[in-house]
Amino acid sequence: MSIPFLSKSRFGAGLQCPKRLYLECYRRDLRDPIDPTTQALFDAGINVGKVARGRFPGGVTFTQGPLEHDEAVRETAAALTRPDTRALYEPAFTHDDVRVRVDILAAAGKGEWDLVEVKSGSGYKEEHLADVGIQLYVLEGAGVRVRRACLLHVNGQYLFEGGAYDLERLFTIRDLTDEARGARSELLEALKAMRRPLREPEPPSIAVGPQCKRPYVCPFYTHCHDGGPEHPVDQLPRTSPKLIEALRAAAIDDIRDIPEDFDGLTDLHKRIRASVITGRVHSDPELKRALEKLEPPIHFLDFETCNPALPLFKGTRPFQQIPFQWSDHVLHADGTLEHREYLHDGSTDPRRMVAGTLLQTLGRRGPIVVYSGFEERIIRSLASVLPDLSADLLPLVETRIVDLLELIRAHYYHPGFKGSFSIKGVLPALVRDLDYEDLEIREGGQAAAAYVELVASATQASRRDEIKSALRAYCRRDTEAMVRLYQKLRGAE
Ligand code: SF4
Repeated sequence: MSIPFLSKSRFGAGLQCPKRLYLECYRRDLRDPIDPTTQALFDAGINVGKVARGRFPGGVTFTQGPLEHDEAVRETAAALTRPDTRALYEPAFTHDDVRVRVDILAAAGKGEWDLVEVKSGSGYKEEHLADVGIQLYVLEGAGVRVRRACLLHVNGQYLFEGGAYDLERLFTIRDLTDEARGARSELLEALKAMRRPLREPEPPSIAVGPQCKRPYVCPFYTHCHDGGPEHPVDQLPRTSPKLIEALRAAAIDDIRDIPEDFDGLTDLHKRIRASVITGRVHSDPELKRALEKLEPPIHFLDFETCNPALPLFKGTRPFQQIPFQWSDHVLHADGTLEHREYLHDGSTDPRRMVAGTLLQTLGRRGPIVVYSGFEERIIRSLASVLPDLSADLLPLVETRIVDLLELIRAHYYHPGFKGSFSIKGVLPALVRDLDYEDLEIREGGQAAAAYVELVASATQASRRDEIKSALRAYCRRDTEAMVRLYQKLRGAE
């Protein structure tokens, strides 16, 4: 029986899990839909790839899609023989029934080429070696003389000085030639092993496990986990690999089946276990007491930030968190609720305006309720880049901030949390009439991508208006959710 061609991404899928590779080849219809944050990351990665080409300028781009692979291979072969070819972007090769498209192939002189795999992250990860290794194998098998096989990634230390990016400094190139050649026999073994199940009429029988989330969340996650236990053990937060391994070894896959004295359970795990077994909420009186101590005006604060791989503003670095928006719901002593907000409009660095407006809205009185330590980190980062405001900013976090997430994690559990303490995990269990479903933007990653689009010079004015209103609605919903959680936990709802 003939089996489908493999590709760079299918090879990666096969390394993660043989069943994933099988489903990628034969049942792509079972994949989970791509969530907006993941899509935004893909899009940002494509953009980094385009900019990275500037590091090897003057190249030829191959635009053929996967169905035109053979044509792309022919055109690549022709381009390789032309003496004036400096670089090829997305050239195509086939060897041993593996098809690859190389991000960049750069002429290295004397008929040799440098293979460059572009990653939009800031460093090398173990799984990148297989990515480079499979391409090197295919190219050499196809007769290309490869001088170096490299990984190009973003240099997180690069300081953007405005104007055009300095591509030499924005990107770091790591030579993986020796490691990739050294791992060749292992790679061929893996290739052989992953092809075997593809000849079978059914996917291999593989139990769900840590491989479902490592190194990437598997696109077939829902398909494989459907029909599983009601409270799977991987819902336990902050588990050590040792605990997961011990639970697997004991064939325990539902939290309710874990013995109370099972080695390695933390207090939090025990609280979750007890709550899902009884089906009842666990609530320490300390939580209510801590919330009752908060004296109005109580601020409920949330930031939206972006951390693009390609820095937007002079004086910033790749992946640096840049706040561009805040929302503040203020609960007054008379029970009235007021909403204030700021969204930076325009292509300038938003941080000074964000900090200035924030100080105005927060004033000098009242606790500042946040959800997670993120807001504190952002305020501290603003204080460090705006030293003239640090004497006003630092007291906000030193004396007034209250982390609702930490309070809930320490004192409360609802079986409906399903192991998650994120606001989007907690809200549906506690405040049923409020969610994010009606919003255009529903996740922080999506908000970050929307802001990058907002400040892009090519974005039309009408689209900008749409983005601004979607961002305002999203950030406002986050602080409204906090208010409702606070009221619910205080027993006021
Ligand atoms: S969800 Fe897990 S078991 Fe299923 S295909 Fe993916 S990695 Fe394999």
